[in-house]
Amino acid sequence: DPQVLASAGAILTVDLAALRSNYLWLAGRAAPARCAAVVKADAYGLGASVAAPAFYEAGCRAFFVAHLSEGLDLRPMLPDDATIHILNGLQPGAEPACAAAGLVPVLNGFEQVEAWARIGRQDGLRLPAVLQIDSGMSRLGLSPEEVESLATRPDLIEAIDVRLVMSHLACADEPDHPANAAQWQNFERLRALVPHAPLSLANSGGVLLDARFRYDLARPGIALYGVSPTPGVGEGLMPVLRLDARVIQVRQVAAGTAVGYGATFHAPYPMRVATIAVGYADGWPRHLSNRGAAFFDGTRLPIVGRVSMDSITLDVTPLPEGTLQLGSLVELIGPHQTLDDVAAQCGTIPYEILTGLGGRYARVYL
Ligand code: PLP
Repeated sequence: DPQVLASAGAILTVDLAALRSNYLWLAGRAAPARCAAVVKADAYGLGASVAAPAFYEAGCRAFFVAHLSEGLDLRPMLPDDATIHILNGLQPGAEPACAAAGLVPVLNGFEQVEAWARIGRQDGLRLPAVLQIDSGMSRLGLSPEEVESLATRPDLIEAIDVRLVMSHLACADEPDHPANAAQWQNFERLRALVPHAPLSLANSGGVLLDARFRYDLARPGIALYGVSPTPGVGEGLMPVLRLDARVIQVRQVAAGTAVGYGATFHAPYPMRVATIAVGYADGWPRHLSNRGAAFFDGTRLPIVGRVSMDSITLDVTPLPEGTLQLGSLVELIGPHQTLDDVAAQCGTIPYEILTGLGGRYARVYL
């Protein structure tokens, strides 16, 4: 709606063609393994209801979310031949809802395997599931001891339709890290103890490692959204996101004038200050107070003063008078400032900036 856009404080633009293109690029890198799409946390903040169907259109048939609630929300948005997996596994009591919705849980512990087998037996069914093995990250998945115990319980294994055996890499974004080879070896040993099923180990970083990490199914997330997990690799990935914020006020301030909460900035000379309609409630980190910037026509506009909840003040003195006006849009993420740039300034990873962007933006899907 053009009227909504014209009045929006900030606009998040998501390029669906770039999402599809990134999926195809990753699928090409992963081949002959199949390629899934990790769409947890609302497709890393970009909107799972739009991103997941875009990946489906590009050929994706396997999707991963973190929570059962995310899977329940996503199920009606995808055709029946798309499989939705629940990475965080199942809390006791959640099994019937998961089974009824046709979602595939990632079983992360021995007791989850037992519970899933029990629910299936009650209905005379072998319910589909993924077995996750902890190969060295110590976060989720059956421990080596649990895998060994499971190997002695054919009754339990028989009761489940094991569709996939997976593990997760802790250091795939550091190709030379010795943990990668160690996890690969652990995975090789442990997966031999459980039923023969397709295997999955690689996240985005794993797809960019050597071919032995790819197995049968790759599970990239961040790279789908245009961010390479590995510096210098991923030349085929396209940026997906643009973030523009509206100028809602412009003022002239005299030398010495304080700007913003805490009066942490004083104009060193007469300045023009523009206020834009984005703040930390929109996921723009307060850490960027007095250090970050926005861009207008390629000109860097430093953030002056603190980032507020709903607004940020910029020094627009470098711009020729009359170019930036009330209602103008300035770039926060785009060609002049990438997610990587923002994350680096905040001492964090692009994942955190992306998933933190929040729900107040007008969203445009191109
Ligand atoms: N697989 C698992 C188990 C995950 O938890 C995640 C996300 O953290 C991914 C795959 C996707 O990871 P990435 O976004 O680094 O590609």
